[in-house]
Amino acid sequence: MAMVKSDAYGHSMTRVAQLLEGSGCSVFGVAEVAEGVDLRDSGCRGDIFIFLGFYPPDVDYFFSHNLTPVVFTFEDLVRISEAQNERGRKLPVFLKFDCGMSRLGFSPNEAVEVFSRCRKLSIEPVGIMSHFPCSDNRHSKNSQHVADLFYRIDCQNGEKLPLVRSICNSGGLLYQPYSHGDMVRIGISLYGYYPDGDKGREKKDEEGLRPAMSCVSRIIQVKTVAAGSGISYGHTYITDRETKIAVLPIGYSDGVLRTMSNRAEVLIRGQRVPIRGRICMNMCMADISAIENASVGDEVVILGSQGRETIDADQIGEWSGTISYEVLCALGNNNPREFLA
Ligand SMILES: *Cc1c(COP(=O)(O)O)cnc(C)c1O
Repeated sequence: MAMVKSDAYGHSMTRVAQLLEGSGCSVFGVAEVAEGVDLRDSGCRGDIFIFLGFYPPDVDYFFSHNLTPVVFTFEDLVRISEAQNERGRKLPVFLKFDCGMSRLGFSPNEAVEVFSRCRKLSIEPVGIMSHFPCSDNRHSKNSQHVADLFYRIDCQNGEKLPLVRSICNSGGLLYQPYSHGDMVRIGISLYGYYPDGDKGREKKDEEGLRPAMSCVSRIIQVKTVAAGSGISYGHTYITDRETKIAVLPIGYSDGVLRTMSNRAEVLIRGQRVPIRGRICMNMCMADISAIENASVGDEVVILGSQGRETIDADQIGEWSGTISYEVLCALGNNNPREFLA
């Protein structure tokens, strides 16, 4: 299953799904019903899973757009049964169990009750799923425990139910090979990142995953300020010498997180240069004193490569106190996009 929620982590759900469907992928995962509707309307013919489940006001869409709810409450089983009876049609249903994430899902202890209710309500679950909390940590013992719990759920009275079983995210796929089951659900690794960031990328640059997204801006003004000048709101940076500043038309409303202020670097003319002062809503400033001839119109790489230098989303995550996932969503979902594939 290709996880294309949140507009494919900022890469465009419809474009990514189209590309992957063309390469043989037939199952897609999104969070919300509205995403599933958009994906179906865009021409996607695969199975579309709604991870936030069966939302009663949207009941019609599950039938009209052939969406698969991931179900985690007894109330929803009843509602789905009623909706099926009214329409004389069944929905494919996946059951979610909480094996240690303390997020969505029935408890594994409820499994017998869940399957017996399904039978009584004429619901035929296609599969079961769960979610790893720590699969990106190769050294954690937690995943083995979670997988053990999960793979016992469908053993009822010593019999295995004919269900598709799915527990792996990217961390599970990469680092918990004993747990793969019937279907893995990958997100971040599709987009070229390891779930554990740089630790995953170690020594893998040649044959490993390659990031799909880059983010590019331009210089819109260049100026020289005297030593002792404060830069941007709050003057959190004071120049210690005469400094050449480039103003960039990209800020936190465009996904350049404000927590990157005074920490991030960008690439201009193939060189790394520091962001100085607070990042504003629509702008930020880079110190280009070390670059000769930088001028208005020059390309500025926020994320990606220029010359021999590269800035990836793991690094931006470190500068801004977050992870690649959030960086990709923030940059991808707040800027005009151009597609190369
Ligand atoms: C987002 C998500 C995934 C994918 O996780 P990655 O770490 O991006 O591979 C898998 N399963 C569920 C339930 C998710 O919400």
